[in-house]
Amino acid sequence: MSRILMIGAGGVAGVAAHKLAQNEVFAELMIASRTKARCDELKAAVEAKIPQSKLKITTAQVDADNVPELVALINEYKPFMVMNLALPYQDLTIMDACLETKVHYLDTANYEPKDTAKFEYHWQWAYQDRFKEAGLMALLGCGFDPGVTGVFSAYAAKHHFDEIHQIDILDANGGDHGYPFATNFNPEINIREITSKGRYWENGQWIETEPLEIKRQYNFKEIGDKDMYLLYHEELESLAKNIKGLQRIRFFMTFGEKYITHLRVLENVGMTSIEPIDFKGQQIIPLEFLKAVLPDPASLGPRTKGKTNIGNIFQGIKDGQPKNYYLYNICDHQECYAEVGSQAISYTTGVPAMIGAMLMVQGKWMGAGVFNVEELDPDPFMDALNAWGLPWHECFNPVLVP
Ligand code: NDP
Repeated sequence: MSRILMIGAGGVAGVAAHKLAQNEVFAELMIASRTKARCDELKAAVEAKIPQSKLKITTAQVDADNVPELVALINEYKPFMVMNLALPYQDLTIMDACLETKVHYLDTANYEPKDTAKFEYHWQWAYQDRFKEAGLMALLGCGFDPGVTGVFSAYAAKHHFDEIHQIDILDANGGDHGYPFATNFNPEINIREITSKGRYWENGQWIETEPLEIKRQYNFKEIGDKDMYLLYHEELESLAKNIKGLQRIRFFMTFGEKYITHLRVLENVGMTSIEPIDFKGQQIIPLEFLKAVLPDPASLGPRTKGKTNIGNIFQGIKDGQPKNYYLYNICDHQECYAEVGSQAISYTTGVPAMIGAMLMVQGKWMGAGVFNVEELDPDPFMDALNAWGLPWHECFNPVLVP
């Protein structure tokens, strides 16, 4: 039964809703979020863009921090699964509600407590036994990174290597929105990620760096030379555990000089802090205030020109010989906007979320327990990426990152 409850009505949910409407596997969709007006706007946008769609869309208001409210909504709508496209803070409450109502779960970002910028899977992996016993599936991190980067790793391990020793994940955004400073997705989540210490995994241990300490340059296909910085990113944790024989995994993201300069200034004056401060008798969190004055990522769609290039470079052994292999996707901001009304960052997350839900509905990805994407068969997902707007490319002699 392909009835889906989607929580959240922001950038990623916007893309996922359009993609669900393009796909006849899905019959009914409820978009529920904190602000119902945004759900109604999204429903109207999808119906206007894809008038021929048979998807029956309804909307509702829900506070996803509140388990009883979620339980009541799920019991009323009776979906096959919940797609959590709200924020990482809501992961655990939504998983609790899914367990209580016996429906499957999917998200695109791992749980993070509001008061500490810690991206870790242990809170959600702790649900393993409860999902298993309930015969339910929880699919974690089914966006692009995490998400497709895990599927790429499983595909490389299955078809190209006997052992993968090193993975470098490279996330390049060659898009220009014309603003001096804006983030491509939720500014609060994005800035928390970038201002945290860097970390990578080597020979069984985590090596910590200062924020943005390690910088490299790389020449990306269809984008050109870009500066990129080593960051901690959540899929490093699950891939280090799930890809057997791995010796090192790192993650790099590109940022322009202008972006880094703005960020440093905001950081130095305390605007990126998540410690509450007293302002005119009211407690405010500087980063939340900053989010309120920055451009809404959803407004960047029509302005952003250029492409993204995200992928994994693998080094390892095949048939006793050393082998290198690069899998990547290139996505054009303007083409995404023309298709679904949003830029490539939301597109590259919303499409894999739809694909994950489709494979669960079709039973191609189904099991009892909590799963990261690389634990499942990559082949149907790789086919679906080509079919649903995120075609991938491969290169057998990639330039390696020093
Ligand atoms: P947005 O900020 O654009 O949207 C978030 C949505 O969640 C909004 O509609 C918001 O409601 C809603 N929401 C927030 N809190 C609640 C709540 N308590 N109850 C109900 N609804 C709530 O974020 P994005 O769409 O950019 O990101 C969505 C998710 O995707 C995030 O978890 C993000 O980390 C993840 N992501 C994953 C990526 C990947 O590649 N794996 C890449 C990019 C993002 P309101 O409209 O009222 O604010």
